[in-house]
Amino acid sequence: MQEPPLPDRGSALFFDFDGTLTDIAANPGAVCVEPAVPQCLALLARALAGAVAVISGRPVAEIDAQLEPLRLPVAGVHGAERRGADGFLRRMATPELDPARRLIEALVARHPALLLEVKPGALALHFRQAEGLEDQCLATMAEAQRRVEGMALLCGKKVIELKPRRASKGQAVRTFLDEPPFRSRRPWVFGDDVTDEVAFEAALGLGGVAVKVGAGQSLAPYRLADPAALHEWLQRAVLALGAESEPVREVRA
Ligand SMILES: [Mg+2]
Repeated sequence: MQEPPLPDRGSALFFDFDGTLTDIAANPGAVCVEPAVPQCLALLARALAGAVAVISGRPVAEIDAQLEPLRLPVAGVHGAERRGADGFLRRMATPELDPARRLIEALVARHPALLLEVKPGALALHFRQAEGLEDQCLATMAEAQRRVEGMALLCGKKVIELKPRRASKGQAVRTFLDEPPFRSRRPWVFGDDVTDEVAFEAALGLGGVAVKVGAGQSLAPYRLADPAALHEWLQRAVLALGAESEPVREVRA
């Protein structure tokens, strides 16, 4: 397991949220962010002229609520919505998802251990509390996909998601890098799940750095054992960038 080096002032940092910045919770609403995390992210954002972003399957509003009062640039719902450093939120046009939603709700009604998460432009079916139902969840989600246009299935850790076909974490990284303050910087991507591999691929294709958090096969050349190891890395990065003495409260990325 090769630990990543530390960033320099020409870096742009992109972090997945669940399983990367925080441990995965039993359900998405129960996640708890350690207070040191937003503090470190704020200091890093300051040191990198704001070039720190979160790339998550969660909606942008949930990432804001988790990191409050910090408001970073965020790509949410796997890039189906994105707020750049300019503060504007852009959403991909998505089809009416009700036909898919009704089908998934019928399955959840029969199996209350399942959890349907309704997001802006996407539907996520969580089976963390009912792992034996994975095949049934997959079959239902495949049928749900057939009922709407332009959507794709994405399988993550104990979750199957119906999201816009064009939405991708890799594209989100590339779009950020087309804009200030990310432009011309070397991208670093941190993620824990198979859904982060396209973002690793984007970073590596641009001469950047990819870091897998946790176990499992990955394109990423670097590895951190778990979110706690990432928290230590964040603190070392703050020191390496000389950002530790700057006041957190004034930081707005
Ligand atoms: Mg994750």
